[in-house]
Amino acid sequence: MNICFKATKLTGDIKFVAPNFESISHTIIKMKKCASGKKVYPTEELAIEALIEARTHSDFRPNQGPVAVYRCDDCGEYHLTSKGAMNEKLMLLIKNGKLTRLREASDWEKKLRR
Ligand SMILES: [Zn+2]
Repeated sequence: MNICFKATKLTGDIKFVAPNFESISHTIIKMKKCASGKKVYPTEELAIEALIEARTHSDFRPNQGPVAVYRCDDCGEYHLTSKGAMNEKLMLLIKNGKLTRLREASDWEKKLRR
């Protein structure tokens, strides 16, 4: 994702910082809201990407955090869930140790940014 959201403390306004306007409007259109209040992903692929991203950047305990993605009956889009069977891609990344390596890389990135 090359979009970042910056909230200014004074006004509470959310500013979209994006390389061009096209990608801003694209993002807004895709950001649907759902009654579940969960974050909405337009495709399963994006949801899985976000799932792996979340597991990479946060240190969840084995039974915590998102483990899978599912298609929502309410909005028809995809959400992350901490319930149910673990997503196959995520499970594979954990099994072959890639997730640990990704996490180490992200830890180093954080250290280097300080
Ligand atoms: Zn939904």
